[in-house]
Amino acid sequence: MTVSDSSVRIVLLYPDLLGTYGDSGNATILAKRVALHDISAEVVLVHSDETVTAEGDIYLLGGGEDGPQNYARDLLSKEPNFARAIDKGALVFAVCAGFQILGDSYVDARGEIQSGLGVVDAKTRRIKGDRAVGELLGESLLPISQRLLSGFENHGSGTTLFGRSQPISRTLRGVGNDYDAHVDGALQGNVLCTYMHGPALARNYALADYLLEKAVGLKPLEGDWLTELQMKLLSERIESLS
Ligand code: GLN
Repeated sequence: MTVSDSSVRIVLLYPDLLGTYGDSGNATILAKRVALHDISAEVVLVHSDETVTAEGDIYLLGGGEDGPQNYARDLLSKEPNFARAIDKGALVFAVCAGFQILGDSYVDARGEIQSGLGVVDAKTRRIKGDRAVGELLGESLLPISQRLLSGFENHGSGTTLFGRSQPISRTLRGVGNDYDAHVDGALQGNVLCTYMHGPALARNYALADYLLEKAVGLKPLEGDWLTELQMKLLSERIESLS
């Protein structure tokens, strides 16, 4: 779709299962960033008892506990429309449990290996150290104007990338994908994953704009008051961490 045709469709998947860390806020941020271009955006909520539409431009998956994570994986694996949308080139942004679901495999609360959807070349196992909880700060490896990406992480599993997936940042503080990885997230085609909660896009507008450019060709916003304010808050936060 081109953005002049109609509104940008942002599909928030299973907020009732994968919304425990405020990640649903990523949908709000994307819609607000679209509105700053004077283009309309529609946020489509898909709860766990509803069918996924194939007509989204962007699909969002959040973090969640191990039980809901398995349930969301079961539901998504039976959703041909989700696979269809990815094949058509829709953009997917997934956080933590969502990231793990999109990979090849992950472990559940009982330590059992579970199949993922195999959308991203990543394997998740128990993390190689204490549960990763706290601030996550990384140097961006994406072509965006913001040098640092910041979020909050909370995960007991860790992820190893392989094949075609590339990390989105080099970890400066916190754990990211795993203790020995020193990177966060994954980018593979139009699928972008991270361990950053926050919600991630509220803390990193340049990342939100990057997703919108990839999804529907909107040019990143620069110099608007909201972006400037966020840059200021981000640098204050970084100073307080050092
Ligand atoms: N259950 C997963 C883990 O602990 C995901 C947690 C999350 O989404 N924050 O690794």
